[in-house]
Amino acid sequence: MPAVLDNPVHPSVREFLSRKIHKLLIGGEWREALSGKIFDTYNPATGDVIAHVAEANQSDVDLAVKSAQKALEGPWSKATPAEREKLLWKLADLVDKNAEELAQLETLNNGKPIRESLKGDLPLASSLMRYFAGWPTKIHGETTPVSVPYAPGARFLHYTVREPLGVVGAIIPWNFPLLMAIERLAPALACGNAFILKPAEQTPLSALRLGELVLEAGFPAGVVNILPGFGPGAGAAMASHPEIDKITFTGSTEVGREIVKASTGNLKRLSLELGGKSPNIVFADADLDAAAKGMFMGIFYNQGQCCSAGSRVFVERSKFDEMVSKLSERAKTVRQGPGLDPKTQMGPLVSEEQKKRVLAYIDSGRKEGAKLLSGGAPGAGKGFFVEPTVFADVKDEMKIAREEIFGPVVCVMPFESADEAVRRANLTRYGLVAGVWTKDVKKAHQMAASIKAGTVWINCYHFVDAAAPWGGYKESGWGREKGPYAIEHYTELKSVWVDLN
Ligand code: ADP
Repeated sequence: MPAVLDNPVHPSVREFLSRKIHKLLIGGEWREALSGKIFDTYNPATGDVIAHVAEANQSDVDLAVKSAQKALEGPWSKATPAEREKLLWKLADLVDKNAEELAQLETLNNGKPIRESLKGDLPLASSLMRYFAGWPTKIHGETTPVSVPYAPGARFLHYTVREPLGVVGAIIPWNFPLLMAIERLAPALACGNAFILKPAEQTPLSALRLGELVLEAGFPAGVVNILPGFGPGAGAAMASHPEIDKITFTGSTEVGREIVKASTGNLKRLSLELGGKSPNIVFADADLDAAAKGMFMGIFYNQGQCCSAGSRVFVERSKFDEMVSKLSERAKTVRQGPGLDPKTQMGPLVSEEQKKRVLAYIDSGRKEGAKLLSGGAPGAGKGFFVEPTVFADVKDEMKIAREEIFGPVVCVMPFESADEAVRRANLTRYGLVAGVWTKDVKKAHQMAASIKAGTVWINCYHFVDAAAPWGGYKESGWGREKGPYAIEHYTELKSVWVDLN
């Protein structure tokens, strides 16, 4: 084993990590990268290398595309919708059966507390799989009453069919590695596509274990290919590949733009779930205890590494001091530690790079004159820890109030009126989510109508479900994942005309 691991690690996790190289899944087989390259992956709580992973590049992507196409031409296109449902359901069962092991792997590779991976990510991932497992037998077209003005009296049968797009590539980030993988794999396969997944270079392990479960479930070879690698290597090769029909991407807005540019060659379909700088707005008439919990969890869940983090908290002036002190006092008591320790409330950030990035933002906040109320420092030890950090006296123009930090750093700002709250909430190039805390129903709905965001949570925060659409306004992305909306963009719509004259 490349590194000493703390107890209690599941024996199967030990066995998994003890493998010399974690290979790529292409065409139903585990293969080394054609270049022979490997890269290290880390435990962010200790900074230790925990596994060596084959690094996919262009030629591996080419091979995966060929395998995916072969699957599409062969057994996968012949699988009935009911057979696709059974396979997805079986995979969900396997995810549930191995939940503890998958959760530990996720925590070891990403850093998040085991409670979050086991009670949050895993059940959500399997519920997504089960939701989409129900879809294949329900994806149908329509008959359409047509009247053709230049063919008076002519009769036609017109119907629509939803067909698979072909080869779908998913490029995903490191904050919810398994959940994101399943969120893309499930609708893609439900719709009959073949699938190529590039997990983030920081967190390839749970996706690779998922690949083993895909084979165990019995999906035909080539239907699912898993290619760990780096953005400029495997990621860019997928985005520009002439025979990948769609890319579903989650990550930074900057990389989203790169993907858009790279996709123009074959005009592949894109869905993009990008950054956020989300407002969480607390009115004085709210249930303040609930709002305090929502403010805290809204920013610090997953170490603040959520595209939906409530990183700009607006509190109505009369309750500002009270709420700011509730938040900063609570932040000071957070138990940080390795995610596998059940007592840990907040784990490390995912990487040394991310830690440096977040600390640089904290530094910029200080320099621009914001008031640091708690946190602000790296944690002790070799792990990539950053303390939960609360800033007050923040101006909308400051860098920490405008840019996505993707870490445990929150800006808390007072406001005087609902109009002001709306104006400042919308003062961002992003539009992913927003939170609103008030007991006034009318005000709640007025806020929901006025905020430009893909999701508005009223008196709650960070709730997601397989059936509820997820995606952003403005530079937070294109399209919606989850729910029936996903079925639309993982399929092509065909129009068929039959002359009945
Ligand atoms: P984050 O800022 O959360 O790390 P990124 O947007 O950098 O997110 O990365 C998200 C995913 O995009 C990762 O899988 C990464 O490897 C991939 N990626 C990064 N750069 C590119 C690129 N130029 N083309 C395609 N994929 C990329």
